[in-house]
This record gives sequence, structure tokens and C-alpha cells, in this order.
Amino acid sequence: SSRVTVVGGGLAGSEAAYQLAQRGIAVDLYEMRPVTMTPAHHTERFAELVCSNSFGGDQGLSPAALLKAEMRLFDSLILKAGGEARVDAGSALAVDREIFSAKVTEAIESHPHITIHREVVETVPEGPTIIATGPLTHASLSQSLIDTLGDNPLSFFDAAAPIVFGDSIDMDYAFYGSREGSDDYINCPLTKDEYEAFYQALVTAEQHQRHDFEDASFFEGCLPIEELARRGKRTPLFGPMKPTGLSNPLEGGRRPYAVVQLRRDNAAGSLWSLVGFQTNLRWGEQKRVLQMIPALHRAEFARYGVMHRNTYLKSPKILEASLNTRIRPDLWLAGQMIGVEGYVESAASGILCAVNAARHVNGEEPLVLPRETMMGALFYYVSHADPESFQPMNATFGLFELPDEVRAIKDKRERRQWMKDRALSVMGTALALDTARYA
Ligand code: FAD
Repeated sequence: SSRVTVVGGGLAGSEAAYQLAQRGIAVDLYEMRPVTMTPAHHTERFAELVCSNSFGGDQGLSPAALLKAEMRLFDSLILKAGGEARVDAGSALAVDREIFSAKVTEAIESHPHITIHREVVETVPEGPTIIATGPLTHASLSQSLIDTLGDNPLSFFDAAAPIVFGDSIDMDYAFYGSREGSDDYINCPLTKDEYEAFYQALVTAEQHQRHDFEDASFFEGCLPIEELARRGKRTPLFGPMKPTGLSNPLEGGRRPYAVVQLRRDNAAGSLWSLVGFQTNLRWGEQKRVLQMIPALHRAEFARYGVMHRNTYLKSPKILEASLNTRIRPDLWLAGQMIGVEGYVESAASGILCAVNAARHVNGEEPLVLPRETMMGALFYYVSHADPESFQPMNATFGLFELPDEVRAIKDKRERRQWMKDRALSVMGTALALDTARYA
């Protein structure tokens, strides 16, 4: 049949249903609200925003603005409705959440190709299906996904350490090396005085308020660094900040008093994550406290650490860059559950799933977006990162691989302009392959 089932009417599912319908494909959209609510949603509207009302940057050279520019080439419903619901927020796109989800709901409900079913989907459906049930996926479907995808595909807790841009690390204060003798890590040493000041700042910094549905008891393996530090002044020195096995060539090979290790987070080496530094500190506080580490004094953050309940898949084991599952080419996964972070990223993945579901029912090969585009780079990351350490990712320029001559450009704006121009021109070419879009 040429019908496609979409499960979940959130940011990703609404976008996917609309994109399919606009391509002339009949859609069965399943949404469990209001029959069954999630712990975070309050209404029965499609694309309800569970927290902030901001979609992030929408002007100039921010990665979020580039992502939006690409999505507008696909006539994104989420961004159209966002534009109609816009409130003043400087260069960011922020919306009146009521108007926004009302607009999305209206577009979905009035579309002649979409049939809405208000019920919980408990098992992964047969036939062409996009699942976009979000971080708070109903437990029955989570179990069915585990059964279908196999090999322990779910992570339930999002304990992400911050990631910094490689070129913002001051290597005058850092050295390569590992406890095993390889050169795989960047080590950021601290003297005793520096450690003590850092420790004080860490244990007194302001934390995010936890949502009451989030379990306050952490797995021991992913304790936030500030919680660990509260257990004792020297506790981090026996944990993530342990100096054992490291000698600092900047100090004549002496062992540092304490060390923060950075692990490569992408093949290009443009992104580095702070090992063992998952944290629940407020974002501004993370920046302030972590910049006290000498090698990170001018660090720029590609992503801040987060701790919240989250259901997401080990996508690198499960998904192709075209967002279909490896085991079932007619099953696509979209939204936060695939390990993209954010409203807009979630919606973007809904677009690609819909494009490929439409191509599938039309008997065409899947479309893989070029990695020079923000969408392509993000979905490549999601399908190719290390599955064991995989954490949700948002749009960021660090995902791009750059030619040496561009990397050498000192001026950040100039570099970003180059990346943006390239992405939009390459996306234009890729779009020409999305043949179903005028159906
Ligand atoms: P959702 O928008 O959650 O949509 C999933 C939909 O599927 C829901 O409508 C749900 O009712 C439905 N559903 C679930 N299971 C079933 C089932 N079995 N059958 C039928 N329907 C089902 N991102 C930001 O950019 N900014 C923020 O401020 C922000 N705050 C967040 C706060 C919380 C508490 C959480 C959990 C996440 C937050 N996120 C935030 C992350 C993420 O971007 C959002 O969760 C976003 O809504 C994800 O889009 P989605 O389409 O994947 O999931």
C-alpha cells in the first residue's frame, strides 16, 4: 500500500506527517494524547513545546540559523508555524507556544491526506512506518522497540558531558597523552592551587532545577561531577581528575596534581568532550567554572552537559544516515529518540524520514543528505558515532569536516560564512533529488 504510519505527533512526527501529506502520500498519524499523557505534556495539541519557547538562533552565522535555513528549503511546517507564532527575542526564533501548537494542529487536522488516530501504539507497526515518540515514549512501545531492534538499543538516562571546540583549547597549557601511553587524549593539568579554586567553584555553582518526574538517584557510573565532588575534597582526584599515569612535558615530565582529560568526539578532531564531566550545572555556570581550567580559559562550548531522563536509541548501531533502521528499510525513526537534541533538530529529522518514506513507497532509493549540510552532518553523526559513548547532539559547526585552507581562516565569521554558503548550495543540489516533493 502507499500509506505511511507515523507514530507520535510531537515536533518530529507532526513535521513528518505534513511532509508526507504534501507529497501526496496518505498518512495515518497516531498520537496518544489526550488519552494517555506524558509526564511533561499538558495539552492534546500537536507539537506541544514541553519546556522553553525558544527555537534558538535564526539570523546570521549561528549553526541553529543554518539548520533553519536548510529546513525552509523543504518548506518545514514547524518553521512556518514558528514564523506565524513569533514573539520578539532578538536574533532567536521564540514563539507563543499556544499559537504555535494551535497552528501546527490546524495544518495537520485540515490536511486531506492525514487521518488522525488518538491512541497509544503499543507495538512497532507493520508496513512503512515512522516512529517519532520522543524522549518520553510510552513504555509499551519502548519495550516493543527493544524487541524489534535487539541488542540493548536504548539509553534511558541522558548524562552528557560538555563538548568544546578543539581550536578553542589553549594547547600552551595542555598536552597529548593517555594513561596507556597513546596520544589519544588532550590532558589539561591543574596545580594544587588551581585545583582548590576550581573545586570551590564546582561545589558552589548553581544547578538546574530537576523536573519532579526525573529520578534524583543517579547511576553510579554517570554521577554529575559536582555531586561526586561534594562527597569529598579529594574525591575527584581519585575519579575523573586522577593524575596517575600521566606526565606533563610542559613541567619536565612531572605528574600533574590534577588533570581534566578531553576525548575526541568526532573523527575530524574538531570536537572534544570532557571525560567524566557530565553535569547538572546551569549552562552559564558550566562556562564560568570550566574556564577556570587553564587550558580551557577561552574554551568555546559546542554543547553543554545535561542530565535528564531521556529515552534515546544507540542510533549508530541501528540507523542508516537516511534514518531508516538497518534491519527494516521501511521503518524510520525521528526526533529526540534518535539522539538529536532540541525541538528544531527533532523536526529536521522528521523531514528526512518523510522524504525517504515517500521515496520508499514510490519505489525510489533512499536520499542521504550530503555531509556538507547541517542536516546531513547531524544525521551522519547520529548514524556513525561510537555507539557506546553516544550522546544526543545538536546542530553545531564542529560536525563539519573542513579543508585545511578553510580551517586556517582565523576569522570565525569568515569561516562560518564559508560553511553556510557551502551548505546551502549543496543542499540546493540535494533537493533536486527529492523528486516527490511537488507531487
Ligand atoms: P515529542 O515532541 O515529545 O513528541 C513525541 C510525541 O509522541 C508526544 O506527543 C507523545 O505524546 C507521543 N507518544 C509517545 N509515545 C507514544 C505511543 N506509544 N503512541 C502514540 N503516541 C506516543 N528541547 C528544546 O529544544 N528546548 C527545550 O527547552 C527542551 N526542553 C525539554 C524538556 C523536557 C522535560 C524534555 C523531556 C525534553 C526537552 N527538550 C527540549 C528536548 C526535545 O527537543 C523535545 O523533547 C522535543 O519535543 C522532541 O521532539 P520529538 O518529536 O522527538 O518528541
